Amino acid sequence: MVQCAQCGRELGQQGEDQRVASISGGIMGDEYIESYFLCSRCGVYTVEIYHDRFLGEDSVSVRGPVPRAEGDAKVKLIKQCSRPWDKRCRCEAHRSYFGGWLD
Ligand SMILES: [Zn+2]
Ligand SMILES: [Zn+2]
Repeated sequence: MVQCAQCGRELGQQGEDQRVASISGGIMGDEYIESYFLCSRCGVYTVEIYHDRFLGEDSVSVRGPVPRAEGDAKVKLIKQCSRPWDKRCRCEAHRSYFGGWLD
C-alpha cells in the first residue's frame, strides 16, 4: 500500500490512482524496484522504492511528493523500455534511469 506523499490518500488500488510505471534495476547485487504512483487529487507523484537485498532484509521506502513534470519525464523514460521489470536489461532507458550504478 502506498499513500500519497502529499495528501496521505491510499494509492495504487483502483481507478485513476493506479501504478503508472515501475522499473527494476540491479545495483551491487541488490535489486531496486521503483514504482511511480500518480495522485489524481494532488497531481503529484509518489515513488515507492523497493530494495531487495541480496544479504539481509528487504526494505521499502517512499519518496515524494515528486512534481508532475519530473515524474512524467521518468515515466516516459521507463516506457521506452520493453522489459522494465527485468533488472538485467541494459537498454538506453535503463542506463539513463539508473545512471552508472547498474551491475
Ligand atoms: Zn494526494
Ligand atoms: Zn530496459
